[in-house]
Amino acid sequence: MHQAKSVEVLVVGAGLAGLRTATLLARHGHDVLLVDRRTTLTAAIRTTGIFVRRTLDDFDLPPEHLGPPIRRVVLYPPSLRRPLTLDSARDEYRVGDMAALYLTAARAATEAGVRIALGTRYVARRPDGVRLAGPNGPDVVQARFVVGADGARSTVARDLGLDRNEHLIVGAEEVFAVTASEGPPAFHCVLNPSLAPGYLAWVVNDGHQAHVGVAGYASRFPDGLRQALDRFAASAPGLGSVVRPDVVERRGGPIPVGGVLRRISCPGGLLVGDAAGAVSPLTAGGLDPCLRLSEQAAAMLHDALRSGRPDALAHYDGAALRSRVRGRLVLRRGWAQVRSPAAAAAAFGLLRTPPGRAAAARILFGDRSFPSPAPGVVRPARAPAAGRAGRTW
Ligand SMILES: Cc1cc2nc3c(=O)[nH]c(=O)nc-3n(C[C@H](O)[C@H](O)[C@H](O)COP(=O)(O)OP(=O)(O)OC[C@H]3O[C@@H](n4cnc5c(N)ncnc54)[C@H](O)[C@@H]3O)c2cc1C
Repeated sequence: MHQAKSVEVLVVGAGLAGLRTATLLARHGHDVLLVDRRTTLTAAIRTTGIFVRRTLDDFDLPPEHLGPPIRRVVLYPPSLRRPLTLDSARDEYRVGDMAALYLTAARAATEAGVRIALGTRYVARRPDGVRLAGPNGPDVVQARFVVGADGARSTVARDLGLDRNEHLIVGAEEVFAVTASEGPPAFHCVLNPSLAPGYLAWVVNDGHQAHVGVAGYASRFPDGLRQALDRFAASAPGLGSVVRPDVVERRGGPIPVGGVLRRISCPGGLLVGDAAGAVSPLTAGGLDPCLRLSEQAAAMLHDALRSGRPDALAHYDGAALRSRVRGRLVLRRGWAQVRSPAAAAAAFGLLRTPPGRAAAARILFGDRSFPSPAPGVVRPARAPAAGRAGRTW
């Protein structure tokens, strides 16, 4: 743990949201300490790492750490028979090498001036300072603002008196290297509530890596998440003759799908990423939202630090953003009601109709992403020398 006991901003959590917020603030010249309880950023990765086209267009992620573009999505009913294949004319997804991306983002943060303390756990916020537990024991840090980038079950949110995620699903996946793909890189999604209750089971095989996963409501897995994953992995589609190695990397964690939380800021700080519920309620994609919301958060914090106005964070308003994902929340609630394979098969029938197919293509290949702030609500952050196309990673 470093020696400084006073910082302008303490960012808790060095996932993508925390790394990005910290970097942008440091580029504005602010004094930022970023802590994470993990001792290395390459361990305990939670995400598959599928980046959507809008993110790839708007943020210059290092291409050497991204897998081949994916244009094909194959949707399967519970029987796995007669799947529906959707091909896009554009590159829609790329799977990130997340360990490398976290390290690259951490390097960018350090270069911008962020001090990163790994193996350091946020314990509590007290009137005399923030309690941390680091490799050298307990510590107290005074911070003008605290940023909760500490994931779906945020302790910072609790201590700041902000909203917390209540509507969560859980996901788990296996990742392993593949040497070749029999077809084009593809994203396979199985809609089967007995395997993945309320969400889906997936295989992403881009010819470099295969990710095999399931996610759904924790209380509804008939025999638990782990068993559901084992069951699915034993007969997952999209792997062709790929041989699964004996030892595979396992990832997993909770995913908030209740939409952006309403109260995500207060005079003492704010929330970003999963802590703020910034995940698409329908697709459960959180990488694009966490990058975009971090930009808004950094802009607000910069303004607050520069102006010294006590109400400067008041416009960092989850309710305004939440109202823009209402349609996706309705669809999530609808899919959550589909509880049996027979009902899922019937719903799948609708996807085979031309309007159903068009709706699926709109969701999977659409141009929408996490809502930008309404004019006058928040000003987007601009890192020096960064433009819309190619915001510096
Ligand atoms: C299995 C799975 C697959 C997914 N796949 C995709 C996908 O392919 N595409 C997509 O867009 N989204 C995906 N998501 C969602 C996406 O990964 C998340 O929305 C995104 O990674 C959130 O980033 P974050 O920085 O907010 O949180 P996290 O990456 O969870 O980071 C939070 C950090 O806070 C740290 N932390 C927590 N508590 C403390 C504490 N008390 N003190 C110190 N540090 C603390 C943790 O160690 C962690 O490093 C997936 C999620 C799961 C679970």
